[in-house]
Amino acid sequence: MTPLTADIRPEFAEIFMDLAKNLAKRSHCIKAQVGAVLTKDTRIISIGYNGPPAGTHNCDEEFPEVGCPRDAKGSCSLALHAEQNAILFAVKNGSNIEGSTLYVTLAPCIACARVIYTMKIKRVIFLHSYAAYKGIAVEEGVEFLKRFGVEVEQYAPAEGS
Ligand SMILES: [Zn+2]
Ligand SMILES: [Zn+2]
Repeated sequence: MTPLTADIRPEFAEIFMDLAKNLAKRSHCIKAQVGAVLTKDTRIISIGYNGPPAGTHNCDEEFPEVGCPRDAKGSCSLALHAEQNAILFAVKNGSNIEGSTLYVTLAPCIACARVIYTMKIKRVIFLHSYAAYKGIAVEEGVEFLKRFGVEVEQYAPAEGS
């Protein structure tokens, strides 16, 4: 029997991003499905996915034909973003998120970037480009975070996984 060698054990980054990807599947939003995991060292502080505040709407059930109402930028007007849900849950429960690392399946929008910076999250690892998803030229959330000293990188799976 082959021993479980170190190089086939998943990295924590991979575990957290896989969880974020799975959480995204729980979103009811028709427009986009995004998952987020807030971590410190090798532990999880909070999780979130995008959707309207609990107890209000479910986009897919309420607007299955036309989709949820859009805001001026064409985004879902009802949903809290995955990052916001993860951060709000942590704050509601009194968790200290300063210095934490956020894994998210879509790069933060500019509104989330402002919140991430304000909460002193030190690092953001994202899977997909928000600019590519939106068809805009600038990765504005990422640019904002980098400019003000938050480490941001696009997720790249470890070799062999
Ligand atoms: Zn929606
Ligand atoms: Zn956002």
